[in-house]
Amino acid sequence: MEIKILELTENKAKFILSDVTPAFANALRRIAISEVPSMAIDDVFVYENTSVLTDEMIAHRLGLIPLKTDLDSYVLPEKCSCKSEMGCNRCRVIGSLNVEAEDGRKTVYSGDLKFEDPEVKPVTDKIPIVKLEAGQRLKLEVHAKLGTGKQHAKWQPVSTCAYKYMPTIEVNKRVCDGCGRCVEACPKKVLNVEKEKVVVVDLLSCTLCMECVKVCPKEPPAIKVKGDDKTFIFTVESTGCLPVKRILVEAAKILKDKGEELSRQIKELG
Ligand SMILES: [Zn+2]
Repeated sequence: MEIKILELTENKAKFILSDVTPAFANALRRIAISEVPSMAIDDVFVYENTSVLTDEMIAHRLGLIPLKTDLDSYVLPEKCSCKSEMGCNRCRVIGSLNVEAEDGRKTVYSGDLKFEDPEVKPVTDKIPIVKLEAGQRLKLEVHAKLGTGKQHAKWQPVSTCAYKYMPTIEVNKRVCDGCGRCVEACPKKVLNVEKEKVVVVDLLSCTLCMECVKVCPKEPPAIKVKGDDKTFIFTVESTGCLPVKRILVEAAKILKDKGEELSRQIKELG
C-alpha cells in the first residue's frame, strides 16, 4: 500500500491511495464517516425560552454545531466506567447559554455557548441559533458527549469523505487528428490540443464521465478512458471538530482493531 499526499491542511486532505482493493478504500471511507467519535451537544435543559422557536428546534440546532473535540481526555459514554445516565467528567462536558435581548433585536450565536472545559468550544462563534426580539430570553444548559456518525449525523467528524478511481487516459496518436472535440466536451478541462494532437493536461481532475470518448468522431474512438480500481484519489474534509489527519489515523486504528477482532474470533472457532 502506498500513500501520496497531494494536499494537507488542518481541515482538508487530498491523497492518492494505491495498491489496495476497492473494499479496503471503502472501509476506510465508511469508518471515517460513521465510526470516528467526535463531540456534539446531546442533552439540552431549557430553563427559559421566550423566543419564537420551540425548545425542540433549538435543541436540534444546538446538536448540529460542530465542537472542538478532545479525543484523549474524553471517552464514549457507553465505554465510561461511571455507567451513569447523567454522565461524569470523563464522558460529558457541561455548557450553558444565557442571552437576553434587552433593548432590541439580538441574534444568539454559537459563540454564546460557554463550556466548563475551555478546550471544548464551537468550531466557529458565528453560527446563528435563534433571533430574539426585545424582551425575549434564552437560558439553557447543555451536555456535550462523544458519539459516532452511526448513532446520529451530528457526530460525523467529516463533511466530505469520498474517493474516485484513478483515471487513465490513452490517446492513440496515430488515429487522433487533433480535431479538438474532446477538448471542448470535457467539463473538467482535462485535455488540450498541442501540435495537432490531444494531450492530457490535468489527469487528476478527470471524473471518468466519458464525454470525450462519446464525441470522438473516429471509429473506434482515438481516446480511451478507464478507472484504475487499485488506485484511489481521496478527498477528506473535517467539520473542524478534529484535524483531518487525526480523523484518518483514528479510522485506520479502528479498521485495524476490527481486523484483529475478526482474526481472534476465527481462531476461537478453531
Ligand atoms: Zn462517565
